[in-house]
Amino acid sequence: MLTQATQILKKYFGYESFRSGQDEIIRRVLNGEHTVGIMPTGGGKSLCYQVPALLKEGMTLVISPLISLMKDQVDALLQNGISATYLSSALSGTEIQERMNEVQSGLYKLVYVAPERLESPSFIDEIKDLPISLVAIDEAHCISQWGHDFRPSYLRIHYMIHQLSSNPVLLALTATATPQVQRDICHLLQIPEENMIVTGFGRSNLSFSVMKGQDRNEFLLSYLHQNPNESGIIYTLTRKTAEQLYEKLKKKGLSVGKYHAGLSSSERDKQQELFINDEIKIMVATNAFGMGIDKSNVRFVIHYGMPKNMESYYQEAGRAGRDGIESECILLFSELDVAVQRFFIEQLGSSDHHKNQETQKLYQMKEYCYTENCLQRWILSYFGEDRNEDCGKCSNCRDERTLTDVTKEAQMVLSCLIRLKERFGKTMLAQVLIGSSNKKVMEFGFQKLPTYGLLKSRSLKDVTNFIDFLTSEQYIGVSGGQFPILFVTDKGKQVLLGNEKVYRKEALKAVKIAAKDELFEILREVRKRIAIEAGVPPFVIFSDETLRDMCAKTPQTLIELKGVKGVGSLKLEKYGDVFIEAIQSFLHEHPEYTPTIEEKKEKKKKAGSENSHLQSYEAYKSGMSIDEIAKKREYARTTIENHLIRCIAEGMEFNWNKIFTEEQEKMIEKAVEEVGSEYVKPIKELLPDDISYFMIKAWVERRKLHEDV
Ligand code: ADP
Ligand code: MG
Ligand code: ZN
Repeated sequence: MLTQATQILKKYFGYESFRSGQDEIIRRVLNGEHTVGIMPTGGGKSLCYQVPALLKEGMTLVISPLISLMKDQVDALLQNGISATYLSSALSGTEIQERMNEVQSGLYKLVYVAPERLESPSFIDEIKDLPISLVAIDEAHCISQWGHDFRPSYLRIHYMIHQLSSNPVLLALTATATPQVQRDICHLLQIPEENMIVTGFGRSNLSFSVMKGQDRNEFLLSYLHQNPNESGIIYTLTRKTAEQLYEKLKKKGLSVGKYHAGLSSSERDKQQELFINDEIKIMVATNAFGMGIDKSNVRFVIHYGMPKNMESYYQEAGRAGRDGIESECILLFSELDVAVQRFFIEQLGSSDHHKNQETQKLYQMKEYCYTENCLQRWILSYFGEDRNEDCGKCSNCRDERTLTDVTKEAQMVLSCLIRLKERFGKTMLAQVLIGSSNKKVMEFGFQKLPTYGLLKSRSLKDVTNFIDFLTSEQYIGVSGGQFPILFVTDKGKQVLLGNEKVYRKEALKAVKIAAKDELFEILREVRKRIAIEAGVPPFVIFSDETLRDMCAKTPQTLIELKGVKGVGSLKLEKYGDVFIEAIQSFLHEHPEYTPTIEEKKEKKKKAGSENSHLQSYEAYKSGMSIDEIAKKREYARTTIENHLIRCIAEGMEFNWNKIFTEEQEKMIEKAVEEVGSEYVKPIKELLPDDISYFMIKAWVERRKLHEDV
């Protein structure tokens, strides 16, 4: 049964193999067992019902909570040549009736339905005798009142299923479920708990970072400046900050949008649409944004402020990298965030017990910001999953910054704070330290303090940053809500007494997510053009992962393109030529092209790294043609050619007659005499078409070798 499923996976979705958990869930569903699947965001839950839907008789009903999400999923299925539709309140009455008629006539394999529809008795009547073989419940945590997105209509699912005469298999799926919610899902859908499949919570393509004691605006701007072409979300704690940050980034000429509950719903829809269609790259938003965003190519999620708990953080951060490509989740922490979140908790109209729970979670969130251990491991252990390996790429694992002893400056700041009688905030403290003649400073007579101007060689910003650093390291405490007041903590007092030293790390630097790859940028443009014509979001045409695999494999024929991740047969037919043409003309312009993105590294790993070219050489020596080797090793022809070129450069033996004829050799030699051998393209232009880049490169490498001798 699974072989058939694998064929479907390749044919319609263009993927070679199932991910962890998918195969087990699909096997069970095909076996007729009701199943609950818990898989992280981006784990590939949709395929768990889409593949069985194609293998089972009749149709699959999918309950999905968000209209925008249904629409994107249906678009994506149609692009893959799978018949699907959705029924939601966004459609008019006549549209619904039309679609319903089509559903009844068996036109669709998959039908997406919003849960609210289940409350209509006439709807249940219309579907109860249809040949529904599978009911998939996406975002199944919405059924539980303990979950964070409880939807009362989800409670109707069980009733509906009982009305269906076809006795369908149930599959409930979710990413975010605490054990309590998991049990609730099983209980409310009457699925035995042992039918639950939980894959790990880990997201190996995400790199987590926490930045604290550093200027967050500076970091943010530098980050965005270095990654101008990438799509990302910036979460703020309040609407006000979202607005301010939006204005600021816009002024800097960045491609940004905004989203928060203070905007009208049509404005929010518009902003969301622009973001999904890659019309704007960066979304500045409060936590109101994100549910129902399946956009797969979000490369970074930056939290401009600490969220209220780990559950929220992981869910929001998890919106990065659904396509499996390396992506970043950065939390820009300030000690003041804790005060803001505590204030929010105070405002909750709930019981003390609940408030205590929330406060507890808040402190765990803060702990995350302070841990010096692997962040990925910390998160997983929070969700009850123990790993015995560090991720090697979070900001703690990667931290090699050197420490500087700043005890003396710290003592200056702390003693000045004491002189201010611990009654002022950060700005006043900084002003006194730099010896500002600001009116307020004068009014209070602070110019007479012995600590006045102790740091006068520094800028106000510098000193403010340093105070933030001391606060984040808890030498300075913060009290009060709206106008926070600073005080010296017990830890700070030890510094004043000379019992403790203060070390500061260099600032965390913003880095580029991926080196710019020219071919990738071109393919992105091609994709966008097609998407606009087809009226769907770009990632529905091909994911970033697929484009990157194209860069790595540089396919130049339809057969080669078929070997690229995520290229199913319908898309191959529809878009294959356009992409191949783009790749060919690019390679023609840039014969020296080598992909700069990580697929290349991955491929290297896969091939047993260093000696991959030797394997190609062995195969070539044994008499196989380059095309045969490429096919067998699942590489593009050009990759094998490059392997062989490398072997030539390393002085290995070759039967030259197999590469070029004597006559061709002479022609190459003549061309090289004319234009030199530094660049391949001008040589190629002087020669007939049947002399390939490979022949030229081989000839040039061989000559170099002889020259060296
Ligand atoms: P989830 O609903 O679990 O968050 P999705 O179903 O939206 O995740 O899938 C996330 C991404 O992973 C999609 O781009 C999807 O095409 C891709 N994907 C799913 N299964 C596979 C697979 N077996 N191989 C490669 N990519 C996959
Ligand atoms: Mg999903
Ligand atoms: Zn780590």
